[in-house]
Amino acid sequence: MTNMLYDALFAPLAGRETPLLILRDGREVTGDAFLRLVLRQAGALAALGLGKGDRIAVQVAKTPEALAIYGAAVALGAVFLPLNTAYTAAEVEYFLGNATPRIFVCDSGTAAALAPVAERNGARLLTLDAAGRGSLSDLADGAEPLARVAACGPDDLAAFLYTSGTTGRSKGAMLSHRNLLSNAEVLVREWRFTAGDVLLHALPIFHTHGLFVASNVALLAGARMIWLPGFEAGAVLAALPRASVMMGVPTFYTRLLDEAGLDRALVGHMRLFVSGSAPLLAETHEAWEARTGHRILERYGMTETNMNTSNPYEGERRAGTVGHPLPGVELRILVEGREAAVDEVGMIEVRGPNVFVGYWQMPEKTREELRPDGWFITGDLGKRDADGYVHIVGRAKDLVITGGYNVYPKEVELLLDEVPGVAESAVIGVPHPDFGEAVFAVLVPERGTALEAGAVLAAIADRLARFKQPKAAVVVEALPRNTMGKVQKNVLRESYKGWFA
Ligand code: ATP
Ligand code: MG
Repeated sequence: MTNMLYDALFAPLAGRETPLLILRDGREVTGDAFLRLVLRQAGALAALGLGKGDRIAVQVAKTPEALAIYGAAVALGAVFLPLNTAYTAAEVEYFLGNATPRIFVCDSGTAAALAPVAERNGARLLTLDAAGRGSLSDLADGAEPLARVAACGPDDLAAFLYTSGTTGRSKGAMLSHRNLLSNAEVLVREWRFTAGDVLLHALPIFHTHGLFVASNVALLAGARMIWLPGFEAGAVLAALPRASVMMGVPTFYTRLLDEAGLDRALVGHMRLFVSGSAPLLAETHEAWEARTGHRILERYGMTETNMNTSNPYEGERRAGTVGHPLPGVELRILVEGREAAVDEVGMIEVRGPNVFVGYWQMPEKTREELRPDGWFITGDLGKRDADGYVHIVGRAKDLVITGGYNVYPKEVELLLDEVPGVAESAVIGVPHPDFGEAVFAVLVPERGTALEAGAVLAAIADRLARFKQPKAAVVVEALPRNTMGKVQKNVLRESYKGWFA
């Protein structure tokens, strides 16, 4: 019986007496112990009727048991559906209603509030808490391990992963065994993962970055993971001496740079630092290199496609770019139906074995974004430089159209960020009676700096065409970000929509 993902990621753990997971308190879970947990959970879930093609939704803390549910779902041929732990009961209601899972696992602490939600949507409720205990673990403890892994081929679904909801309502991306395995294989090769690696894993596992990029790659390579429940700078600093690779979102890097303990001695032994999920400022890239001697490797991907491009492992890691398309992934940039010239901005499209099957129960959305010939319209605007490095300029939905002219926020943000005293900025379009939309800047001062919005705008005035210059700016303490470190421009647009009214 073959099961594409199970055979590649989980079956090889059998008999492995070295750790797979190293926990914050020093406890270790060997590969073999983890696999036994996976199979006991799978046995328990099978007894509750979870079978091939059924969905299992989970909204739980990051524990070894939580990762094991992913393995159990794969073993059963079920569809794994992880949910952001920050989602409220009302949000969970949407996901359960949309995906109609047979089983829903939530934290013991939220079970009372979520029980009616699960019941209304026909899901059996189980619990799993931050200590790895709950009704799921009770059932697994007494269960017979799954005897026969479900047969699954490349086109069988492995997961519904909901997008982050940065630009609108989250969409459930249907991901197949082929989608996940092809990408993990490419990343293991491109990033030179081996069984000797120790991955510092502080990302959440309800998102593609922590679940598929990080965990799948480590599992496929036979590597170890330092399994931290979340990002906490002190805990990460303490764990770095034992790690060989870290994957993070840009905020991991900026927060670590705030720590006096981060220096060359601490990370000299490290093999690789990877960043993604949101743009890494070139400034952060440079500051990291100055402090640690390491050049961060930035890559670009999304829920629907896993990873599409990466800076090279060997060769120049170019700050402010996301590198080249990964082997097997085609990437094109279109402007009004034709391929963009060098340095010309257009819509990024990708095609390859990594590209998802479609959005669950959203045939129209699928038709709008996934072409019949396999090209996925990413919604991201970008360009290629003369050396083929891809630059992400921003999202099409964030493009500002003012008086009929297109303004790419990134171009303005880069200039604003160069003004002394500006730590970072976000440029948005807000309604304007004359221009339709006006360019508007939200500025964050460097710590301890008093920033005056008018002076910042004056500082860039002669460096930018008039129509691109912000018509107004505000200074705020911090930009609104979601758990993956993405700036929530929709929140900013909502806050400042009345500015010119
Ligand atoms: P939604 O699709 O629901 O609006 P989302 O696109 O933020 O949410 P994800 O799939 O988590 O959901 O994020 C993918 C997006 O993240 C990409 O389309 C891109 O805009 C952004 N992204 C990922 N990596 C990078 C990177 N290295 N640089 C810039 N942007 C990145
Ligand atoms: Mg998206």
